[in-house]
Amino acid sequence: MSDDKTHIETKLIHAGEPHPRPGGAVSMPIFQSSTFEYEGQSSYHDIKYIRLNNTPNHIVLHNKLAALENAEAAIVTASGMAAISTTLLTILSAGDHVLIQDCLYGGTHDLIAKDLPSFGIAFDFIDSSDPHSWKTKLQRNTKAIYVEAMSNPLLQVADLKAVVRFAKEQGLVSLIDNTFASPVNFRPSEWGLDLSLHSATKYLNGHTDIVAGAVIGRADLVERIKHRLDHLGGSLDPHACYLLHRGMKTLALRVRYQNDSALALARFLEGHGAVERVNYPGLESHPGHARARELFDGFSGMLSFEPAGGYEAAQRFMQKVTVPIVAPSLGGVETLVTLPATTSHAGLSADDRRRLGISDSLIRVSVGIENTADLIADFDRALQA
Ligand code: PLP
Repeated sequence: MSDDKTHIETKLIHAGEPHPRPGGAVSMPIFQSSTFEYEGQSSYHDIKYIRLNNTPNHIVLHNKLAALENAEAAIVTASGMAAISTTLLTILSAGDHVLIQDCLYGGTHDLIAKDLPSFGIAFDFIDSSDPHSWKTKLQRNTKAIYVEAMSNPLLQVADLKAVVRFAKEQGLVSLIDNTFASPVNFRPSEWGLDLSLHSATKYLNGHTDIVAGAVIGRADLVERIKHRLDHLGGSLDPHACYLLHRGMKTLALRVRYQNDSALALARFLEGHGAVERVNYPGLESHPGHARARELFDGFSGMLSFEPAGGYEAAQRFMQKVTVPIVAPSLGGVETLVTLPATTSHAGLSADDRRRLGISDSLIRVSVGIENTADLIADFDRALQA
């Protein structure tokens, strides 16, 4: 456990850095070597080799990520999905059952609903804001509960305190995808969640130029996940480690600006005559607002909205907007807009999307670091077109 009480901005720069610095270099050099001289290690998992995620470029990230979330340990992976799949395949075995939030990132939803059953792992959906209903879904073989800090794309806020209580009472491992919040806005270990998972492709890196993932939390679980990762092979390349490390240094500056900009944009959209609905936990009208205020230090740079006029109006907006780029993914310095029904959640059936509240006209926005007034003016122009 990092008991370092320095602020996150300082940790982003200094936590986990090697001492002495290799060759005195202020910026961590890239150790582009697949293997390293044998130093008498007795365990396979300790031999220094890129696939075993233990080069100097990996170690610095593991130490820094654990410090950022005040957690015991961390490990980086080749993608967010590598973090999620390797974690689930470590915590769960054939014959086990997992409870999952009913509205999750589409890739995670499909992994659990379509792939894990072929490994003999069963699941049930839960309404993450109705803890009283969870017990009815519990089975003798339930081993874990899985939620997202802010759900994708509706920005729902699960009852995370109840998740921790329920997991402890029932002996479950609690798992949270903390990608949308980032460690600046939420640190799951501080609230008693066992493991925090990230698509480091998003806010942690922040520059839309790599794919990476991370698992942060209890050291005993991270150790088991590392061993499975060593076998499954989803390790992060040292050059991608370097880019992630470089990107992370500005995480707090980026995320705080994105929090403020997203709140201003959400307020603007909420008051706009051509907008029907806005989903942003920072708005007083959001059903999870009180919970978000209690749990999070900021409401994130993510929001979604539905323009009045349905699918055609959404298509028109996407064609007219000029500052944002129409692209999937999120968490980078540039504002991105996307229609989840045709990108991140295209894997769900139309019926499932309707049931969950993901309409065909829902537009998801990942707010970048452009000037806030420029962004609002551009959205206004596109909505009026
Ligand atoms: N979790 C969330 C919330 C995501 O939005 C994504 C990707 O969009 C992932 C996980 C998967 O991450 P990656 O694309 O890095 O594998």
